[in-house]
Amino acid sequence: MTDPTIENLERRCPRLGSPITFQYCLISGEDDTICGKILDCWWERFDVENYLKNNMSAAEFNSLMARAEKPPNKISSIVEIVEAAKKRVED
Ligand code: SF4
Repeated sequence: MTDPTIENLERRCPRLGSPITFQYCLISGEDDTICGKILDCWWERFDVENYLKNNMSAAEFNSLMARAEKPPNKISSIVEIVEAAKKRVED
């Protein structure tokens, strides 16, 4: 069951450079499929992976997961930031 509150959420699309709704992301991929950046673009706003899993067939969801760009891993991002800071202090 889709949630109109979620589907009407807005953000700036990095590809278009303009505001879009989540609903647009569901049809903006090739052949009107889900955009492959949907996980990366929305993970900070709500549990997008779980939302899609509950609103797609298992085959569609697995296909999306195989091609989607994933959000950055928080731990590896923190480690990269610490390493960059250490390097700046050493230089
Ligand atoms: S998921 Fe795709 S269409 Fe939606 S904001 Fe990100 S890049 Fe734009």
